[in-house]
Amino acid sequence: MIALSLAEIAEVVGGQTHDIPDPSALVTGPVVRDSREVEPGSLFVAFVGERVDGHDYAAAVVEAGAAAVLASRPVGVPAIVVADVQAALGALARHVVRELGTTLVALTGSAGKTSTKDLIAQVLRRKAPTVFTPGSLNNEIGLPLTALTATEETRFLVLEMGARGIGHIRYLTGLTPPKVGLVLNVGTAHIGEFGGREQIAQAKGELVEALPPASEGGAAILNADDPLVRAMASRTKAKVVLFGESGEADVRAENVRLTDAGQPAFRLHTPSGASDVTMRLYGEHHVSNALAAAAVAHELGMSAEEIATALSEAGSLSRWRMEVTERPDGVTVVNDAYNANPESMRAALRALAAMGKGRRTWAVLGKMAELGDESLAEHDAVGRLAVRLNVGKLVAVGGREASWLQLGAYNEGSWGEESVHVSDAQAAIDLLRSQLRPGDVVLVKASRSVGLESVAQALLDGG
Ligand code: ATP
Ligand code: MG
Repeated sequence: MIALSLAEIAEVVGGQTHDIPDPSALVTGPVVRDSREVEPGSLFVAFVGERVDGHDYAAAVVEAGAAAVLASRPVGVPAIVVADVQAALGALARHVVRELGTTLVALTGSAGKTSTKDLIAQVLRRKAPTVFTPGSLNNEIGLPLTALTATEETRFLVLEMGARGIGHIRYLTGLTPPKVGLVLNVGTAHIGEFGGREQIAQAKGELVEALPPASEGGAAILNADDPLVRAMASRTKAKVVLFGESGEADVRAENVRLTDAGQPAFRLHTPSGASDVTMRLYGEHHVSNALAAAAVAHELGMSAEEIATALSEAGSLSRWRMEVTERPDGVTVVNDAYNANPESMRAALRALAAMGKGRRTWAVLGKMAELGDESLAEHDAVGRLAVRLNVGKLVAVGGREASWLQLGAYNEGSWGEESVHVSDAQAAIDLLRSQLRPGDVVLVKASRSVGLESVAQALLDGG
């Protein structure tokens, strides 16, 4: 945040000041929506939610030191009152990022936004102070709140943008206009709400439409391996930079392989040089994410060596994504329960196979959601792949889709004890507790809605 007076903020957001003794008082603390995060000098944003009304906390936050409340009605304590709190928050973020002159990087895609955003941040912050979206706060509220954490020191602001429909990304880029825009992939996430992949591409492509022209430094970073993303090149005036494994990509990987530990390694090629990367993260889907991050960093002036070093040292900043934990008894738990799609399922199974050389391996898998007509075939294929990779035991958890996973394994030749179908997480936990032996490696993965992290947690807590 830049220090702004209450009067200035009221003007920026088009609001009325109420009960403010000194309009020249400065907002110096963070802008927050959670009363527990208020610090002296904060601006507290009062949203009316389904269960709680932020206005009820007005007196308490001012007591705790907040300079004022951004509210939709007078609250008896210092407040800037506006008709629409969300729009006002957006207007404030837009004003602050413009004043700061920070370089904005925005990214979207169907899968891997948070993982890639974390990689970009870990690379860019080696060069200059970087602020980035915490976790997945990628909507019309989280995004401006993140942008408002930038300060005068901040050189790079990296923002994850989520889209659940046409016009969403356009709205977000209106709040925080990016200079560099990255589109990772167009998958099937939320396909039901969109109506189809073309519509998803239409919505995500709004990001590159919002970029400034190449002459003003605008850069669209696009995945050369995803035809729907590549095609977005025609929708932007910005310079187009392609990343991917395809030979024509500007930033690409050669000699991609998994190390014995299951971590991806490759030679990174950029337009200005090449360098070797061995990642600390697990799963080859991170190669694509790493190339995307490399393309962004290269565009912002980093060398291939600097980028390769940063990518090789980058860890996971967000929970439940290929989180590898070693138990005292030597059982390794790989928690990838945050989410799943066919591509990341295959990547996770290959990582498990590589990590599990010479050890007993377990794949505790649940359904991949939102696959529509492809669902049966995709679950069947994952079950088969588990057998082909010699995974020791497949534990399919849940309803119909889990039975398809197991059937795939069965049809691939796993007729005995190697694959089982259990109804819920508790049954999986009971089975694992009775059968795990020291040295085993257990992968836990399913779509978000299955909540399989409870299995990983139980294995780590209770042994
Ligand atoms: P959300 O929409 O929930 O914010 P996201 O796009 O931020 O998701 P991540 O949180 O980075 O995505 O990753 C979600 C899951 O997608 C991970 O658990 C991983 O299995 C998978 N994933 C990550 N990167 C890729 C990729 N490049 N391609 C396919 N799947 C990926
Ligand atoms: Mg995310």
